[in-house]
Amino acid sequence: MEKEFDLFVIGAGSGGVRAARFAASLGAKVAIAEDLFFGGTCVNVGCVPKKLYVYASEFAEEFEAAKGFGWQSERPQHSWAKLLQNKDEEIARLNGIYINLLKTAGVEIFQGHASLLGKGQVLVNGARSETVKAKNILLAVGGWPRKPTFPGAELTLDSNDLFRLRETPKKVLIQGGGYIAVEFAGIFQGLGSETELLYRGEKFLRGFDFQVRDFVEEEIQKKGVSLTFNDDIVEVRKHAEGQLEVQLTNNEVRKVDAVLSAIGREPKVQNLGLENTRVQLTGSGHIQVNTHFETDEPGVFALGDVVGRKELTPVALAEGMALAKYLFANEKIDLNYDLIPTAVFCQPNIATVGLGEDELRLRDIAYESYVSIFRPLKNTLSASPEKTMMKILVDKKSDKVLGCHMVGPHAGEIIQGVAIALVAGATKKDFDKTIGIHPTSAEEFVTMRTPVSH
Ligand code: FAD
Ligand code: NDP
Repeated sequence: MEKEFDLFVIGAGSGGVRAARFAASLGAKVAIAEDLFFGGTCVNVGCVPKKLYVYASEFAEEFEAAKGFGWQSERPQHSWAKLLQNKDEEIARLNGIYINLLKTAGVEIFQGHASLLGKGQVLVNGARSETVKAKNILLAVGGWPRKPTFPGAELTLDSNDLFRLRETPKKVLIQGGGYIAVEFAGIFQGLGSETELLYRGEKFLRGFDFQVRDFVEEEIQKKGVSLTFNDDIVEVRKHAEGQLEVQLTNNEVRKVDAVLSAIGREPKVQNLGLENTRVQLTGSGHIQVNTHFETDEPGVFALGDVVGRKELTPVALAEGMALAKYLFANEKIDLNYDLIPTAVFCQPNIATVGLGEDELRLRDIAYESYVSIFRPLKNTLSASPEKTMMKILVDKKSDKVLGCHMVGPHAGEIIQGVAIALVAGATKKDFDKTIGIHPTSAEEFVTMRTPVSH
């Protein structure tokens, strides 16, 4: 007889695991299918290994900085192979934790590829093929790196491949100007590669505040990363000496050891059996859902990267939890996508919450801008030329703080706290009333008093 569940989740990534565990804790009979890696993108080829690699790359500067504080030693050598081994061990540990979390919550685990058969039925192709029934089905299948289409695209690496690299490429070219491209530019540069980032548009990091983008452009170049804008790849060829020859649109040719293409991600909807249902896709190929994460097929839901709202782990987690409570605790879904803080772990870090100046102008909101650019205390002795930037954007009418932006060390750690203030509706007066913590960079957020003219 077919097994029957209250909820069958396809995809054990951030969103799927959170939804499954919460639903089970609310008394539902839940199962989850995963065909690749437990914990999904974030744990295996995303946030976690990426941040470990960022830490690894930051040591290069720290060794230099230490000299200014009296430390005298030769710079140690880096082994990419050792980093890979330690990273793999940690990820394997996390995979086990995810499986245990699901088991402890009472979620039945299916290891295999799942697809929809229609009418509340799911086919799981694992060690054996099995059909199950479910009152509710959740598609939390995430995304996959978009492959470029130029000749020689198969010679390029994507973000998944980076986490399998065994040695430092001497010279690397990165295509793209988003999160992954700038984060990996910092990682490669820090770990000793000669690094160039190539972006097709006027300026990278589209969507971020213009001043943040300008500032990051300067700071990244100070670290030695070469930036090329308004250019793209036409073709990649294998050179006789083993290097790659990259033909650019401006007719120049680069010879490099590796090309990383980081040009966005696509929803992973292939072989999901959508044709057996009424599930519709949006123009961008994401699964179309309403505010309750309902697809056009009754009883089939979708969330996380595959619906393409904000492709961030905490968003998938929040959506998973909200759906579980909606289905099994009768709670309304009340998610606010307006004030989602986010960080780009490039070097220095970017972190931001709320609106940027460009967006305020677009929305015709009268605002005041407070900006502080300074040399952090540590750099007085480290001799690093790196500067930090902090920016507050305030609604002229209501005095509410509409956006806070930072470029500098630990920006993500700092903006997380600031985000609470914005969610609570803090005004600039509230920021001004707050006593600083001295000496920190973060105290600048409560000491800026004079708006810049614009
Ligand atoms: P996923 O985590 O991708 O999970 C989907 C799961 O479904 C996968 O395990 C997949 O194998 C499985 N699956 C798919 N189809 C099937 C099927 N038919 N049957 C069975 N299983 C299936 N976000 C942040 O917030 N901070 C960061 O620092 C950050 N860094 C990132 C760095 C990189 C390099 C990348 C690529 C992403 C990063 N992200 C980051 C984004 C974050 O990883 C995603 O937003 C998040 O993982 C989305 O969760 P999800 O549950 O929607 O999908
Ligand atoms: P992004 O969407 O951030 O950036 C994609 C970049 O590739 C953009 O600069 C885009 O240019 C460019 N691009 C798109 N298509 C092409 C093309 N055909 N040819 C050349 N360039 C192209 O994607 P990423 O791959 O960097 O990351 C995917 C998502 O994962 C992110 O959006 C983010 O949500 C998440 N992520 C989050 C991280 C974090 O929270 N720290 C870290 C890493 C990923 P244009 O701007 O002109 O469109």
